[in-house]
Amino acid sequence: MTDTTFRAAVVEDFGPELNLRDVEMPTPGRNQALVKLQASGICHTDLHAAEGDWPVKPEPPFVPGHEGVGEVVELGPGDHSVKVGDIVGNVWLWSACGECEYCRTGWETLCNQAEYGGYTVNGSFGTYMLVDTRYCARIPEGSDPVEVAPILCAGVTVYKGLKVSETKPGQFMVISGVGGLGHIAVQYAVAMGMRVIAVDIADEKLELAKKHGAEFTVNAKHADPAEAVQEFTDGGAHGVLVTAVHPQAFGQAVGMARKGGTIVFNGLPPGDFPAPIFEIVFKALTIRGSLVGTRQDLAEALDFYARGLIKPTVSECSLDDVNAVFEELRHGKVDGRMSIRY
Ligand code: NAD
Ligand code: ZN
Ligand code: ZN
Repeated sequence: MTDTTFRAAVVEDFGPELNLRDVEMPTPGRNQALVKLQASGICHTDLHAAEGDWPVKPEPPFVPGHEGVGEVVELGPGDHSVKVGDIVGNVWLWSACGECEYCRTGWETLCNQAEYGGYTVNGSFGTYMLVDTRYCARIPEGSDPVEVAPILCAGVTVYKGLKVSETKPGQFMVISGVGGLGHIAVQYAVAMGMRVIAVDIADEKLELAKKHGAEFTVNAKHADPAEAVQEFTDGGAHGVLVTAVHPQAFGQAVGMARKGGTIVFNGLPPGDFPAPIFEIVFKALTIRGSLVGTRQDLAEALDFYARGLIKPTVSECSLDDVNAVFEELRHGKVDGRMSIRY
């Protein structure tokens, strides 16, 4: 490696503007690889990170991005299961301890020692990044890097969310919020045999959901989604997956669910929502949070893509566009996912 610096989009202070500048080239440590980026998706989480939206904050300066795809160019010390030239990806679960109760019981996403890509460790908004080769994504051969990138966060997150909803083939699943996560969720739910209903506050998003197989849509700006879903499903949806970036959608999920149904929260807008105790008890609802997915979930999520069952709707941009893309994300203007091509 001869370059000593590379270009990246850096959060210097919490706020809407990333600073495009050169940063120092890192040296891969034990179990790490240096990766030359080909593409990176831009997740709404990157915007939350840059704005310092969440109670647990990253420490500026840092480079966001956790849907990065690129080629391994150098390996650090250690035994690696990837080699120079392999195409890999960074993910939110950048690494975990591998030893704790969570790691040992299939809940590595909850590891207290976990590092998060583009949050506690520099991410994929730059031409190079580090990955931990024990946790990085293995990109299926023949993938278009720009198209596969959103699977690394949006895809695995909603795939896992759908799994833990325990909704069965033939049952109704509401996808609330049809952005980067939600438009892929519609596709996984269809591929898993569920009957999909999409809810958003923008008609373009609902059109996209229909294109991907939703059989019924509700614009929550113009109609009460609980009423509409109750009527269409004759009693409510068996599962509700909330990927929306507004707390209002979280409260509405309770009204859309069927008795005995499961609501899964993926979205992470700052704030709270009113939880109607009577309705939750009398409908015997399960409400659960779900955070990205394990390495196994990721492998399965990527396999759906490799088999052609999932095709993210992606628009390409360049690293220099990242601030403009943030502005569009903030206003719900991105159709599907924006993905940087390096
Ligand atoms: P996005 O901006 O691409 O999509 C958000 C969608 O929500 C948009 O389509 C928008 O129109 C819609 N929306 C806004 N208000 C709504 C409302 N009141 N009702 C219904 N829909 C509404 O964002 P994204 O990249 O898909 O991320 C979505 C959320 O998921 C973010 O908060 C992100 O941080 C979070 N996230 C969580 C995980 C996890 O592991 N749990 C992983 C990735 C992202
Ligand atoms: Zn993400
Ligand atoms: Zn652990």
